[in-house]
Amino acid sequence: KKYIRDIPDFPKKGIIFKDITTLLKDGIAFKDTMNILYQRYKNKKIDKIAAIESRGFIFGGALANSLGVGFVPVRKKGKLPAKTLSITYQLEYGSDTLEVHCDAIEKDDKVLIIDDLLATGGTASAVSEIIEKIGGEIIEIAFLIELEFLRGRDKLKNHEVFSIIQY
Ligand code: AMP
Repeated sequence: KKYIRDIPDFPKKGIIFKDITTLLKDGIAFKDTMNILYQRYKNKKIDKIAAIESRGFIFGGALANSLGVGFVPVRKKGKLPAKTLSITYQLEYGSDTLEVHCDAIEKDDKVLIIDDLLATGGTASAVSEIIEKIGGEIIEIAFLIELEFLRGRDKLKNHEVFSIIQY
């Protein structure tokens, strides 16, 4: 927790933004974080890591590399070049659309979903839906940070959820 910086009123008033750049710039803290994830998942027979743009890519990319498994980017609308499956989900104000390549996952691939932070769970819930639609079996959904008071886990009830740090 001492490496995570609170930024009040970012990106808008009333939100306390959890800034992880202060953790990432510290080589030991970043390595320790990745080691927690590596130890947890090294024997879980994971085939693919699906990570959520954009901060999820940092942890997902590093973990996929150390586990020696595939990396699947889940991206904002219009960024992926080949055929995609997309999902639109509600945000507090408005909606957002995420996409994944249709051929990113083989049927019954064991998939770990990863993002930096679990807030309301809307994003991770949409991602888990899309990963299952293209045939993946979700082993767990992992976060660096969980904002427990927002009860994001309730939206992810059908899945195992892991977080390193809780607020
Ligand atoms: P949610 O769909 O509400 O669980 O929001 C999760 C997504 O929004 C994650 O990709 C986070 O990176 C981002 N996010 C939401 N709340 C915060 C926060 N307080 N600080 C940093 N990132 C946040």
